[in-house]
Amino acid sequence: MKLATIIGARPQFIKAAVISRNLKNHPNIIEILIHTGQHYDRNMSEIFFEELEIPKPQYNLGVGSGNHGEQTGKMLHQIELVLLKEKPDFVLVYGDTNSTLAGALAASKLNIPIAHVEAGLRSFNRKMPEEINRIATDHISDLLFAPTQNALNLLEKEGLKERSVLSGDIMYDSVMFYKEKALRQNFQSPIDEQEFYLATIHRQENTDDPKRLQAIFTAFSNLDKPVFLPLHPRVRNLLKTIHYSENIKITEPVGYLNLLQLISKASKVLTDSGGLQKEAFFMNVPCITLRDETEWIETLENGWNHIVGASEERIIETTKLANPKVKGNPFGDGKAGEKILEILTSIGQ
Ligand code: UDP
Repeated sequence: MKLATIIGARPQFIKAAVISRNLKNHPNIIEILIHTGQHYDRNMSEIFFEELEIPKPQYNLGVGSGNHGEQTGKMLHQIELVLLKEKPDFVLVYGDTNSTLAGALAASKLNIPIAHVEAGLRSFNRKMPEEINRIATDHISDLLFAPTQNALNLLEKEGLKERSVLSGDIMYDSVMFYKEKALRQNFQSPIDEQEFYLATIHRQENTDDPKRLQAIFTAFSNLDKPVFLPLHPRVRNLLKTIHYSENIKITEPVGYLNLLQLISKASKVLTDSGGLQKEAFFMNVPCITLRDETEWIETLENGWNHIVGASEERIIETTKLANPKVKGNPFGDGKAGEKILEILTSIGQ
């Protein structure tokens, strides 16, 4: 069976690494990796291929940044050309980026079956570009891999149950696989102080709203511990418009292993990232989510994750809360990648 996998953004490299690794047990599947080029900086792309030993993509479409329509349109056109040439039996897409939507759309127009990994996620906020990408992708896909029972329930509500499978979360597979290795690495300490908060910001609702962005930076400036902020390129250009204190230590984005080590050492994680909310949960570090809602409602259990929006006061107050104790694991058994490939193999035969 020939599988064409579409990737383009940082979280997709991490997910694709899980599948690529597990493919060693499935010699009957040939994977063609198509990188759209949505993320292209070395530390947003190449570093993940090196660290996570992802094979070099057969195609790099070099689409780069742009407005949503322009970027998605360029991808759609170029992915179609590759699919026409490669004629895969299945197209595999991950998550909720423009690369996900373009890959699914290109495949559906050519009647190539589509598998969507991380299906059924909903924020119920249609202003988020990711929400539209997810809904559209789920509804045109043929096989939906839900990471949690909640995601599966949401797919059922949308009439998609017949095409859906509860696979578990491949981001959990990834943390289970790399955690020990990440903790053993000798990364330079970002901050002299022993205790720090780890933060990331990249969500459009924060970066495109100067008031929200400033409120977040003001809160970080006034926290009781230094804040280490490996900064997404989307925010880098906005820094000159923001006031903040030396309590915030800003660097370039870091690699995945470094990031996992930082999470494990941080007192708390403050983020608007989907991935980091879960990684903090997996590694028993409380999270404060700088959004007005989350798709990953499982992480809210027993106060492991708090939704605080971009409120300066709530960010500061929530960092003072005591750490919770009890926590379940609704994200599977760390074998989601294997399960996904077993199902694809059984269909492809
Ligand atoms: N990540 C990383 N280095 C960083 C920030 C994030 O390796 O400096 C990883 C982290 O594992 C996270 C993933 O990139 O889960 C995707 O994060 P991002 O916030 O870009 O996307 P989202 O999860 O919100 O879709």
